Amino acid sequence: MKYLLVLAVVLIAFYIWRNNRLTDRSDAAPPKASPRKPNTPAIMVACLECGTHLPDTEAVRGRDGVYCSLEHQRQHEANAH
Ligand SMILES: [Zn+2]
Repeated sequence: MKYLLVLAVVLIAFYIWRNNRLTDRSDAAPPKASPRKPNTPAIMVACLECGTHLPDTEAVRGRDGVYCSLEHQRQHEANAH
């Protein structure tokens, strides 16, 4: 009976030690702390024709700047001529 108690204490101690080690490792290098996140805030740009703000990745690039749509790019560049 005495040996069983010692074995139980050793198992509990090992369990706690292992848990602490896993916690320390996850604190040292959290997986979500990577510098390149896919959800980084997009750079906002304004349409030259209507002034609508939209993400840089969705903007249409024209000769003079960016537009919210191809239609506004055409309109703006047609007015410029
Ligand atoms: Zn526009």
